[in-house]
Amino acid sequence: MKIFDTHTHLNDPAFSGNTQQYIDNAKELDVDEMAIIGSNEEFNIEAIRLAQNYQPLHAVVGWHPEFAKEYNEEQLVNQIKLPEVVGIGEIGLDYHWEEDPEPKIQQKVLIQQLDVAQQYNMPVSIHCRDAFDDMYQILKNHDMSKSGIIMHSFNGDVEWLNKFLDLGLWISYSGVVSFKNAPEVHESAKETPLDRLLVETDAPYLTPEPYRGHTNQPAYTRYVVDAIAKYKGITPDEVAEHTFNNAHQVYNL
Ligand SMILES: [Zn+2]
Repeated sequence: MKIFDTHTHLNDPAFSGNTQQYIDNAKELDVDEMAIIGSNEEFNIEAIRLAQNYQPLHAVVGWHPEFAKEYNEEQLVNQIKLPEVVGIGEIGLDYHWEEDPEPKIQQKVLIQQLDVAQQYNMPVSIHCRDAFDDMYQILKNHDMSKSGIIMHSFNGDVEWLNKFLDLGLWISYSGVVSFKNAPEVHESAKETPLDRLLVETDAPYLTPEPYRGHTNQPAYTRYVVDAIAKYKGITPDEVAEHTFNNAHQVYNL
């Protein structure tokens, strides 16, 4: 079995100095390849450094909505030309925490980064929290058919799933799909077609069962695969195979 963690943060200080150890841990649970996701200048630079130094890692760079005010388009355009950089992210909208920076600024910076992605045919990793309505409108008005959009850690119900599938999105599930108290996400995972499905950890966050409460790591993508297999009524091997091939397709590997 080969598993691709499409959204993880080995560039987070929680893992610093132990990159090889976490890659080895992942390999033991068949997690062979990962996309390291940036969110601001510092994390983007570290994502690129890791991808340049460790073979199974790729870099995705962009400005998370929390850092929208620091957005640097010149730097983004220069970085996405590097061979190790396979996408733009994580970018999006987050209205959960007191709406700071204000939604208008988040939307503007999201659209600017979508424009860059469109221009350079780069896929994007979308962060969306408590903002499905605005996200849907923005993505609907942006033709990303040539570049590809990943909805990272999708936690919506089947109605939202179908709306985003209609826009041609890839749907990525994190450890949340393994939580007992997430019946809507179980149902969405069951209904997501195998050819649009991706898996991720979002480590160090969102640790799946049976390790919920501990620090997450890329190896645990294996438990996301297991949970999806259970809700779809298929084998983990089938989930791994499809999601691995899908990850290669969306990131152009
Ligand atoms: Zn993330």
